[in-house]
Amino acid sequence: MSLAFGHPVIAIPGPSPTPDRVLRALHRASPDIYGEEVPELNLRVMAQLKRLAGTTANLAPYIGNGHTGWEAAAANMFAPGDRALVLVSGHFGASWAAQMAEMGIAVEIMDFDNAPVDPERLAARLAEDREGLIRAVMVCQTDTASSAAADIPAIRAAMKEHPALLVVDAIASLGCSPMHMDDWGVDVLISASQKGLMCPPGTAFIWFSERAAARGPTSFTTPVWDWHRRAEAEPLYRFWSGTAPVPQLFALDEALRILLDEEGLEAVWARHAALAESVWAAVEAWGAGNPGIRLTVAEPAGRAHSVTALSLPEANALRSWVTQKTGVTLGVGLGAKDPDNALRVAHMGYSNAAMIMATLGAMEAGMTALSIPHGSGALDAAAKVIAARA
Ligand SMILES: *Cc1c(COP(=O)(O)O)cnc(C)c1O
Repeated sequence: MSLAFGHPVIAIPGPSPTPDRVLRALHRASPDIYGEEVPELNLRVMAQLKRLAGTTANLAPYIGNGHTGWEAAAANMFAPGDRALVLVSGHFGASWAAQMAEMGIAVEIMDFDNAPVDPERLAARLAEDREGLIRAVMVCQTDTASSAAADIPAIRAAMKEHPALLVVDAIASLGCSPMHMDDWGVDVLISASQKGLMCPPGTAFIWFSERAAARGPTSFTTPVWDWHRRAEAEPLYRFWSGTAPVPQLFALDEALRILLDEEGLEAVWARHAALAESVWAAVEAWGAGNPGIRLTVAEPAGRAHSVTALSLPEANALRSWVTQKTGVTLGVGLGAKDPDNALRVAHMGYSNAAMIMATLGAMEAGMTALSIPHGSGALDAAAKVIAARA
């Protein structure tokens, strides 16, 4: 028999759950895009997105997903053959590097083997680059596959006087973990609608500093990619290089109001931190009874607050069981050394303590049903974190 009937719990790291209010907001036909409503809505969303990123710099919106954001940013920053240093802490950093290499950028990878970036290694490499050939240092704030989190201010500090741009992929962290783009000296920030922003997939955003704005255009900067045309736009169609994604704008407007004006960013970040800690506490309790169950990132300071990757024997069987029997969907062990025995629990965006306790409870039931050995007290440990932090 299955006990999955009822509201499903989606604990995959994107697309993340969308609030009903956001779904209702986008469920309407487009009004006249030449009237006043949509241009005003668009400007409001642009202003809110700058607040979200902690910047007064430039913002270029794109129709597309995270990969679109990657390519658009690269097409504005680099000429063919330019050198980029990508700090890789997992599958997403590696994919980003591969995409840019295919474009014809001279990509150098510094691999941290699914662990967070060590700023000292970066500092040592940049010190060797006396001619300043490295044009950009690129890093995922959260690598969604390993769940390693980068310390962006420490990375900026390690760059010292080196002229490279600091480029941050915040696709899995914006709206989940702190981002102070201007205060932290981030030159280019990339994100997308479907993770911490709690919207359906379909839009990507690039915030860029004046220093970054001075780069290019290069032979990569075709009219649709050009970030200046969008960031300096006045008529609506210029922001989006054609028809605006009107339902996305309605969704983003509502989601950003919830995050920025209702819950408040500090509370949003604190909620993600507390939910993450409760998941870590549960995994550690399970692991006390089975050395095969362990968090991918050992050091708590290096763990993401939006997703947790772990090793777990028979993870694939467990994922199927919890979906079929309990209605909880867990993330696959993307990029893990042994993906069949690894999984990810997302606590990203529209996610609360009840959803996390439900997810952990379903996992515990699955391990019991499948006779996967595990330590006891995981739900108690998670509940204690929630009790202390709420
Ligand atoms: C999801 C994700 C991407 C890719 O985004 P798509 O929308 O799937 O193209 C890139 N980087 C990070 C860190 C992500 O989490």
